[in-house]
Amino acid sequence: MALSEGLRNLKVAVVDDNEINHKIMCKILYKFLGLNESQVDLFLNGQMCLHALARARYDLILLDIEMPVLDGCQTAIQIRHPRPAILDVNRSIPIIAVTTNAKEHQRQHYLSLGMDAVVGKPIVEPLQFIGLLKCVLAGQKGGE
Ligand SMILES: [Mg+2]
Repeated sequence: MALSEGLRNLKVAVVDDNEINHKIMCKILYKFLGLNESQVDLFLNGQMCLHALARARYDLILLDIEMPVLDGCQTAIQIRHPRPAILDVNRSIPIIAVTTNAKEHQRQHYLSLGMDAVVGKPIVEPLQFIGLLKCVLAGQKGGE
């Protein structure tokens, strides 16, 4: 299955406590990746995302770092470790941090927690971001 075919069924979780960032990310995903509204679920913090991951399969998480209730780092830790109730298929889900805190040492920290890539916010080069997103998805799926 080509990645472009896979994109038709792609299910993405966008996790950010700022609803303006939800809107911006949706615009990018709709315009540059061709996703529709049914393919993108929005969450205001990590806890809400974890609840969703216990119920349904997702293919990608775009994860803010600074959030109330459960921040991005804690969310990634919970996803990668076996304790909380999360579907097994979601354990290895690709996670891209999308954050204003993207200095080199911060990037390294996020990657050490099991995140797959880090993108600085605001996203100024949507096409570059989409390229990275496709790379992460392709890597996860063995280059399908
Ligand atoms: Mg935030």
